[in-house]
Amino acid sequence: MSQKLTLALSKGRIFEETLPLLKAAGIEVTEDPETSRKLILATNDPQVNVIIVRASDVPTYVQYGAADFGVAGKDVLLEHGGEGLYQPIDLEIAKCRMSVAVSAGFDYASAIRQGARLRVATKYLLTAREHFAAKGMHVDLIKLYGSMELAPLVGLADAIVDLVSTGGTLRANNLVEVEHIMDISSRLVVNQAALKLKRERLQPILEAFEKASIQ
Ligand code: ATP
Ligand code: MG
Repeated sequence: MSQKLTLALSKGRIFEETLPLLKAAGIEVTEDPETSRKLILATNDPQVNVIIVRASDVPTYVQYGAADFGVAGKDVLLEHGGEGLYQPIDLEIAKCRMSVAVSAGFDYASAIRQGARLRVATKYLLTAREHFAAKGMHVDLIKLYGSMELAPLVGLADAIVDLVSTGGTLRANNLVEVEHIMDISSRLVVNQAALKLKRERLQPILEAFEKASIQ
């Protein structure tokens, strides 16, 4: 196997927050994904490329070895299942929480007490299913791909399971957080075969990431 390395990142916060970690490993991305239309970005190291993919596609690229390593949120990794991935480091970046939210006027507690069967809209079907099953609640899950906040406002759902950081988007849409499901941060994921075959190249980068992420 060649010792070239491919790192999968998503545009936006994960890319931005991974840059300082890369820098600590001596790697600087020489193109900006926000202005470039390229999906394969060069770095100062001719042996390292960065590919830009959807946040939820990062584990898939790494699982199949199209990327040797990547950065993905815990939310995304739980839905993917983590098959074929080694997850050595919690990078403590892109921090937020996964929560249940409802319209401000909806009495979630009494709906639960009465055993109502709630409709819950989310992008995170597996995590939501597990959460409500553990509470012994029967819910109908509705899969959405974005703008979950809209669902309770237009009667698509009674509740949503979504990521929250400041709560600003919830407030702007007259929604309230009623349950905190879990804290979310992004992890480094490494292809299991690449970890063995490219260990010499990967190990120093993993060590630099680990050091830089705990500071
Ligand atoms: P796409 O925009 O392609 O649909 P996405 O919305 O999941 O994907 P991002 O918004 O860049 O993409 O989120 C990437 C990751 O960052 C998420 O998987 C999650 O772990 C984390 N994240 C999402 N929203 C926030 C937030 N408000 N604050 C901090 N981290 C967040
Ligand atoms: Mg987003």
